[in-house]
Amino acid sequence: MSYALIFKGHDFEYEIQAVAKIFIPNVRFELCREQQIPVSDNRILTEFDRNQNLLKTEIFLNGKFYSDSAPAPAETSEQEFRLCKMLYTGLQTLTGYQPPWGMLTGIRPVRKVLDALEQGLTPEQACSELKQKYLISNEKLQLALQTALIQKKILPHSLKEIGLYISIPFCPTRCSYCSFVSHSIESAKNLIPDYVGKLCQEIQILGELIQKYDLSVQSVYIGGGTPTSVSAEQLRKIMQAIRNHVDMSHTREYTVEAGRPDTITEEKLQVIREMNADRISVNPQTLQDSVLQKIGRCHTAQQAVEAFQLARKLGFDNINMDLIAGLPSDTYEGFSDTLRKVIALHPDSITVHTLTVKRAGNLYHDEQHQNTEIPIVEKMAGLSAELLPENGYQPYYLYRQKNTLGNLENVGYSRTGKENLYNILIMDDRQTILGAGCGASSKIITSGGNLTRVMNYKFPYEYINRFGELMTKKQQIAIELEELT
Ligand code: SF4
Repeated sequence: MSYALIFKGHDFEYEIQAVAKIFIPNVRFELCREQQIPVSDNRILTEFDRNQNLLKTEIFLNGKFYSDSAPAPAETSEQEFRLCKMLYTGLQTLTGYQPPWGMLTGIRPVRKVLDALEQGLTPEQACSELKQKYLISNEKLQLALQTALIQKKILPHSLKEIGLYISIPFCPTRCSYCSFVSHSIESAKNLIPDYVGKLCQEIQILGELIQKYDLSVQSVYIGGGTPTSVSAEQLRKIMQAIRNHVDMSHTREYTVEAGRPDTITEEKLQVIREMNADRISVNPQTLQDSVLQKIGRCHTAQQAVEAFQLARKLGFDNINMDLIAGLPSDTYEGFSDTLRKVIALHPDSITVHTLTVKRAGNLYHDEQHQNTEIPIVEKMAGLSAELLPENGYQPYYLYRQKNTLGNLENVGYSRTGKENLYNILIMDDRQTILGAGCGASSKIITSGGNLTRVMNYKFPYEYINRFGELMTKKQQIAIELEELT
């Protein structure tokens, strides 16, 4: 079936398309300007009629029709917003679907609440304003508000308080839903020693910048891929470089995202302990063996439980577990069973992601999976929001990604005092994060709130072979950091 979006008299294509996708996900729209009206069963026209100063929409969808028009406001941003809302109302009327996040399409709903609170609104006023503007459900507003109130207490206040991210972009095998730039350990085996060497050099360079500009590293996060894919010796070398070159006297948390249970060994956990990292993540994603098999993970549910228990035995008292709602072949009952079993292990935080179907993942083309799963995934997210607070976990970070099933969110729940600052910083865009390793980006936030991003190369061979070039490019970081002094 074909779908067309027709734009007349305006340039609001991006936002209009985002609103249409809330109701009609997973289709490729034919995008048309007014000159090329398509012959299509399903077509959505949005128009700014400048002669009459009217905003208009006409929707033909699955044999039904809706139209509306209203006077255009003076401001361009308001014109865009009103046209989007008109389209949203039309699509809601025709489909009967009530999107939980309303017409909010951005990835940082919590930032909207924090902004409103910073403007002096009370929590009630902030919620009421956002509800009226974006038509967000009460349930999601409460989730965003609770998260914002916890973040407000944790967020650093000085621009010199920064995060440090170290990338180890290798994994034992590639999961079927993966959209990250991760490389199978088997194919990248020969590159790893050189990669580790260059990464240590980059850590040293960043350590020097941190010292020169008197920055205070609040959080260190070693992520991936799966950082524990490399050997214990290689992991030790990387962590030793951090210890040698980065002043960590102000560091509030040090995380190694161990990740896949099949890579976690006692030796690697001992290295992490010796190097004083205090938080790890053991990520089962699901505790249903058949689902693990379906998504291409080479471990069982029992291995995930054992990796968690081993970490506890070795003294880790801040362990996160990641789960995904909406995995292929998982059911509501399966997810519920996983969630309850994970809660019974008493990890310190539990992060519940909603499956994201990106082009790079094999599932992108599995439209049937995407369309049939949405109501179930909404139930899974609802169950998490109910069961986790009942068991002492509060939401402390929340973000949305494009192409998540049902436009839902990813939420980090934690026990009080075990919130992960880095996770908040990465979504907040208010603090500087310096990144080392391939695929890592550095973002520098200056006093005017300006954000500069410097991206490292995506692939290990490029990172290794063009390291000199990359470090020259990274001098831009020093220029931006001057602003913080
Ligand atoms: S463990 Fe994570 S990064 Fe690695 S392949 Fe699976 S989803 Fe991708």
